[in-house]
Amino acid sequence: MISNREMFYRFLGQTSSFPLGVEIERAEGVYMHGPEGKPYLDLISGISVSSIGHRHSRVVQAIKDQADHYLHLMVYGELVQSPQVNLAELLVRHLPKPLNNVFLVNSGSEAVEGALKLAKRYTGRTEVVSFRNAYHGSTLGSLSIMGNETMKKSFRPLIPDVRILEYNNIQALEAVSGRTACVIAETIQGEAGAMAPSEGFMKALRKRCDETGALLILDEIQAGLGRTGKLWGFEHFGIIPDVLLLAKALGGGMPIGAFIAPAEIMQSLTHTPVLGHITTFGGNAVCAAAALANVGVITEEKLWEDVDEKEALFRQYLKHPSIKNIRGKGLLLALEFDSFEQNKKVIDRCLEMGVLTDWFLFADHCLRIAPPLIITRAQIKEACEVILKALE
Ligand code: PMP
Repeated sequence: MISNREMFYRFLGQTSSFPLGVEIERAEGVYMHGPEGKPYLDLISGISVSSIGHRHSRVVQAIKDQADHYLHLMVYGELVQSPQVNLAELLVRHLPKPLNNVFLVNSGSEAVEGALKLAKRYTGRTEVVSFRNAYHGSTLGSLSIMGNETMKKSFRPLIPDVRILEYNNIQALEAVSGRTACVIAETIQGEAGAMAPSEGFMKALRKRCDETGALLILDEIQAGLGRTGKLWGFEHFGIIPDVLLLAKALGGGMPIGAFIAPAEIMQSLTHTPVLGHITTFGGNAVCAAAALANVGVITEEKLWEDVDEKEALFRQYLKHPSIKNIRGKGLLLALEFDSFEQNKKVIDRCLEMGVLTDWFLFADHCLRIAPPLIITRAQIKEACEVILKALE
């Protein structure tokens, strides 16, 4: 009989020639379990997704309850569906006043695409500004604003009128002009290897957008919902974006994304043309119900409150001559090594010893630490001991 592993390689489209290729049968809390019951401590949360842990009981129950009512009814934006409206209300309740209108989509890339179209439509301008080493998704629009030419060149021509600036460089912001529809930035860059900008840069970015009338889109698809030690990443910098992007951790393990803006801006998608941005499955009822339960857990339990203390534990335990630096904020951290080869060896050894981690798309010499926010102090110690052992 052909094994699942063989079928994985034979029948599934692959994204690289070296996938992790480990089979997982079930997952619970911060652990995944292989077919023979081997546990893997999840240090990356399915890339910043499982913030409240795998299969949280409230999320699983919400999915079951919603499945008993309805699955899909109609394309997004026509019928009144309680999971969607309650999710939007809950998000708005926890956001600063201007961010009061939520457009639901299926993924991070789609949140990006929607926001770019919104900015073009609202401002009537065409230029989009993004930053070096930014990752915003793999669809053609989001790829067009990616800050990495190696990933883009095989797919050109892409969307024109995109300008890539150096991240965290205040002077570079002078290039933002009256032609700029929007500036899109990750609040804390994820795939660049957990790069947190200075407060000065983020404030200058907000100011430059105000001066030029460009919309500021903050992509918090990785940094949002508590991961960096505050509910929203932008709180670290004392600014509010015009458009906020969420996905990943939003659904508690189910696929859903959102772009959030003032209603006055968002309404420009309702005309000229009518139905100019639509989605069949955006805000799918089951996903929205899962997201509602998930955001409920995060906000009621204030899961971001002990993130700083957990970050400090990682920084305290992970002291080793091979670790050059620890970048990032909260539980979005990058252990910096000298080379990819060294990093890969550590990642492979960790996996053998039951700790799942990874590198970053644009920083392959950095090991990713982005565990579920519910990871305990004891589990942090355990994970760090394994990493240090892998370095021996
Ligand atoms: N923005 C950021 C900051 C991301 O990290 C990602 C996914 N890694 C995306 C956008 C794209 O999200 P998705 O894969 O859900 O399309």
